[in-house]
Amino acid sequence: MKFLELPHNYPEQLGNQSKWISKFIRSYWLVVFVHTIAQLGCFLFLYYPISKYEFYIHTLLVPVILMSSMIIWTHWIHRQQPHFIFYAMSITSTFITWVIIYLNYDIRIIPALCLMPIFSSVIFFRKRLLWFSSILQMVTFVTLYLSDAHFREFLSSFDAVATPSFILAGTIIAHIILISGRELLGDLQQTMQAKQELIVRNAIMSKLSKTDGLTNLYNQISFRDYYDTAFDYASQGSDLHLALLDIDNFKQINDTYGHRVGDMVLGIVSQVIQQYISSSDIAARYGGEEFALLILDKNFDEAYELVENIRSHLSGLRWKELNNQTVTVSVGLHSCEPGLTKEELFEQVDNYLYQAKRSGKNKIITARHIA
Ligand code: GH3
Ligand code: MG
Ligand code: MG
Repeated sequence: MKFLELPHNYPEQLGNQSKWISKFIRSYWLVVFVHTIAQLGCFLFLYYPISKYEFYIHTLLVPVILMSSMIIWTHWIHRQQPHFIFYAMSITSTFITWVIIYLNYDIRIIPALCLMPIFSSVIFFRKRLLWFSSILQMVTFVTLYLSDAHFREFLSSFDAVATPSFILAGTIIAHIILISGRELLGDLQQTMQAKQELIVRNAIMSKLSKTDGLTNLYNQISFRDYYDTAFDYASQGSDLHLALLDIDNFKQINDTYGHRVGDMVLGIVSQVIQQYISSSDIAARYGGEEFALLILDKNFDEAYELVENIRSHLSGLRWKELNNQTVTVSVGLHSCEPGLTKEELFEQVDNYLYQAKRSGKNKIITARHIA
C-alpha cells in the first residue's frame, strides 16, 4: 500500500488545503471572540472574586491582545512563509488553548481542550505535525506546571500524571485515525486512477473500433451506422449525397512497386480526401482501395465540386515513389432522392463508379452524365 505523499514543493501545491487553512485561522478568531464574551458574561452575571481592573486588564484585555497577535502572525505566515504554516497554526492554536486553560483552570474539564490542536492536525494528514502539536502541549503543560504555583496547587498529583497521559493517549488515537485516513485516501486515489485509465482505454478502443488503422478514416462498419442515420435525416428533407471513390489500377501499383508503396498511396489518398471534406461530411475506407463519402449540408453542385477537387488534386500529383506517375481515382456520385431506398442509392452510386471505370477511369459519373 502506497501512502499519500505530500509534495515537497508544498506552497505551490497548497490547492484545496489553502482554503482549509484560511478557514482554520478564521476559526481562531471565533474561539477568541466566544471566550471573551463568555468571560465577560461570567464576570457580569456570576460570582467572580477579582477586581474590575484585574478582570478587564489581566483576564480580558491582555489575553485578547496576545491571542489576536498570534492569529495575525499566523495570517502573515500563511501569506509570506507558507512552508511553515502548519507549524505556525499548531503554535497559535496551542497558545490560544493554553491561555484559555490557564484562565479557566478552575473548570476541571478544561485541560481536555489541549486535544483540539492535536486532533486538528489530523485533518491535514501530517504525522510530524501531529507529534509536533502533541509535544507542544506536553511542554506547555510542564512549563505551566513548574512555573506557576497557583496552577500547580490547583492540580492534584493525579492530574499532574493524568494530563500528559491524556495528551499521549489522544495523540496515539489521532495517529491511528491519520494512518487509516491516509490508507483510505490512497485507496481512493488508486480507484480514481484506475477509473481514469479505464475511461481513456475505452475511448481509445471505441476510436479503434470505429476507424481504419492505415488511413485513419472510418471503417465500413461505422460508415454503415452513419449512412443509416444520415439517410434517416435525408428522408426528412436534409441534403445527402453519396460518393464512392476507387483508386485506378491499384493492383498494378502493388504489383510494380510493392505492398508498402501501395499502403503509402492509400494513406496519401485518404489525406487528400480529408483535406477537401468539411467537418459535416463523413469519409470512410469502404474496402481495400475504395472510399465512401457521405456529403451533407451541401447542394449537388457543391458536392460535385468537392469530389472533383479530390479527383483533380490527385490526378495532378506526380509520385516520386511511382517513377513520377500519377494516381487517379474514379468516382460515382448520386444524391438521396424521394422514393429511393438506401440500398438503391448505394447500388446506383456503385453502378456509376463501375461506369466511370468502364469509360476510361479518372472521372466522376453522376446522373447528369447518363442522361
Ligand atoms: P480498378 O482500376 O479497376 O479499380 O483496378 P484495381 O487494380 O484498382 O482493382 P482490383 O480490385 O483489381 O485490385 C485492388 C487491389 O487492392 C488488390 C489488393 O491486393 C489491393 N489492396 C487491398 N487492400 C490493400 C491494402 O490494404 N494495402 C495494399 N497495399 N493493397 C491493398
Ligand atoms: Mg481500384
Ligand atoms: Mg476496387
